[in-house]
Amino acid sequence: MKTINIKNSNEEIQIGKVVCVGRNYADHAKEMGNDIPDKFPIVFMKTATCMINSGESVVHPDYSENLHHEVELVLLIGSTVKNANDEEAENAIAGYAVGLDMTLRDLQFKSKEKGEPWTFAKIFDTSGVLSEFVSKDEYELTGNERIYLSVNGETKQDAIVGLMLFNPVETIKNISSRMTLEKGDLIFTGTPAGVSRVAKGDKLSGGIENIGNIETTIV
Ligand code: ZN
Repeated sequence: MKTINIKNSNEEIQIGKVVCVGRNYADHAKEMGNDIPDKFPIVFMKTATCMINSGESVVHPDYSENLHHEVELVLLIGSTVKNANDEEAENAIAGYAVGLDMTLRDLQFKSKEKGEPWTFAKIFDTSGVLSEFVSKDEYELTGNERIYLSVNGETKQDAIVGLMLFNPVETIKNISSRMTLEKGDLIFTGTPAGVSRVAKGDKLSGGIENIGNIETTIV
């Protein structure tokens, strides 16, 4: 069973569903050659079994030639919400972390081409890396926080969280209109531009200002 830790708290929370938003930064949608979603975010899932903590290694699957990093703001859901309004969505956020949504881009492209789900591009073991969470009681997101990631010391992704097309409240409202969200569920809120291929031996390090840092090695 996978659990997450919250800074300055002894509570261990079991990870539930892991819901991910695609194309939530216009520049990343553009670099992938995708349209920008206007009314509703692109949503897909990862699993609790994908998740590892910062400091652990990402194991490169041998059935892919194109593993990409995606650095993202991760929301921790702290209570049950369904069809949330603004206030309920805001209150459902228990904390924030920085995460990596590691993606097998070649498998994803092949699936997209065939019109098939891209599940296997996203759910391999170790494909989700999480920093420690910061409770919303301790830090409230402003949207001005910098989000960044470097590979072997070279900056690849560098943006501001507020550039998201759907902010956390809108994201929770949209997702909870289609599925119940519960305590322990995580939402990966999408990645800014600059995703790139990584290989075995590469060292990734990144973070979100005031929220946390993340590092991993590809093995
Ligand atoms: Zn992602």
